[in-house]
Amino acid sequence: MVDLLITDTVLSGDGRRMDVGVSSGMIAFIAPCGEGRAEVAAHVVQGKGGLLLPGFVEPHIHLEKAYLLDAMDREAESLQDAIRITAQLKSSFTKEDMYRRSLTAIREAVRNGVTHMRCHAEVDPILGLRAVESALRLKQALKHQLDIQVVAFPQEGVFKSPGTAGLMEEAIRLGADVIGGITYQDTSLREHLDFAFGLAEKYGKPLDIHADFSDNPNDRAVVEIARRTIAAGMQGQVVAGHVTSLGSLPEHEALEIAEHLCLAEISVITLPMTDLFLNGRGDAEGSCRGLAPVKLLRKCGVNVAVGVNNVRNPFTPFGKADPLEVAWLLAVTSYMGGKRDASTLTNMLTYNAAQALSIENYGLKVGAPADMVLFREQSEREVLLNKPETRTVWKSGVQVACSDAKPLELPWLSGVIETI
Ligand SMILES: [Zn+2]
Repeated sequence: MVDLLITDTVLSGDGRRMDVGVSSGMIAFIAPCGEGRAEVAAHVVQGKGGLLLPGFVEPHIHLEKAYLLDAMDREAESLQDAIRITAQLKSSFTKEDMYRRSLTAIREAVRNGVTHMRCHAEVDPILGLRAVESALRLKQALKHQLDIQVVAFPQEGVFKSPGTAGLMEEAIRLGADVIGGITYQDTSLREHLDFAFGLAEKYGKPLDIHADFSDNPNDRAVVEIARRTIAAGMQGQVVAGHVTSLGSLPEHEALEIAEHLCLAEISVITLPMTDLFLNGRGDAEGSCRGLAPVKLLRKCGVNVAVGVNNVRNPFTPFGKADPLEVAWLLAVTSYMGGKRDASTLTNMLTYNAAQALSIENYGLKVGAPADMVLFREQSEREVLLNKPETRTVWKSGVQVACSDAKPLELPWLSGVIETI
C-alpha cells in the first residue's frame, strides 16, 4: 500500500516507462511500468508516458525586489543604474509589500515546478533586516510546500554602506542560512572578502557571492575567491553567481580560471536573463554576450547551474520565475540546442543546482523525498522547447500545484496570504 502511485512515466532520456510509488512523503519504489507490482495506492496518477523530473531547484532569486515595473519611472541604463534605481525604490518598501511580492514570485515558481529555492534577501541600512525577516517568515510558513534557503545579501556593499557589517551579523543570528557577498560594490576586494570569509568561519555558514558581474575581462575576483576557499577548507561550500567577465577572456585564460574554480569546488550559477540584459550594452560595436562561458566551465568539470535571479525589476524587466524559461534562453545564447544539451540543461535546473545548494538526498531515487514535477511531454528536449503550462508538482509526496486546473488554485497559498 502506497499513498501515491504515478504510473507509466518516463524518468530520463532513455524513454523507459516506469511506475513510481510514494509512501510517507518518500519515494518507496521505482519499477518498470506494470511489471509485477500490484500496489494498492490511495491515489493514482496516470503518467501517460509523460516525463517525471525531480523538483526544480531555483539556486538564485531575489524575492523582495521582484515585480517593480509599475513603480519604476524609467529603465536602468547599466548595472550600477539598476542598483541606484532599486535603492531609491527600496526606501518605500514595507514588510507587507515585500511579503506580497515575494509570495507572487513563489507562487509562480512553485506552479512551474520549483521545490527548493535559494533567495538573496538584501541587508543594508535602507531595508535594515526587513527583507531577511520577510524571507524567514516565508520559509517557515511554506516549509511543507517549498524548501527555502535565505542568503543575507549586502547589495549596497559592506563598507560602501556603513552599518551593513553589523546588520549582516544580525541577519545570521536571526536565522539566515547563507552569507552573501558582492565583489563589485566595495572599493577593496580584499576587505570585502576578508569580511565574507571571516563571517563564514565565525558562524560556520556557506558562502554565495555575486561575483565578476561585468563584461570587463579584468574583473577576476573569482580567482581570489577560489584561493581563499581552498585556504579556508571550504571546498564545496562556496557559490559564485554571474561570473560573466570570464566570458570576455581569451579562452586559454578562462580555462585556467575554470580549473581554479574546479579545484575549489566552487559552483557557478549563470543568470542569463539579467546578464544578457545588462552586459554588453556599452559596446558600440562587436558587442559581447556578457554570459559566463557555460560550455568551457563544464568542460573543466565546474558544477554549473542556472537561475532566474530577477523578475520584472530594474535589473531584468522580464521573466516569470520559470526555470524552463531561463534554461531555454541559455540554450539559445550558449549554443546548446541539441538533444544532449537538453539533458544537460535539465540537469542544471535539478541535480547541479541541488549540488550547489548542498541539498542532501535529492533526486528521483528510492528513499529520497518525493519532490517531483510531471509533464505531458515525453522528453527533456520537448519540455525545454514547449515550456509547457501543464505541470503537476509534488512536495514530499503532496501535490502542491497542478497548472492543468483553471483557474489556478493553490489552497495552501491562500492560507498564507490570510496570515498577513
Ligand atoms: Zn542576484
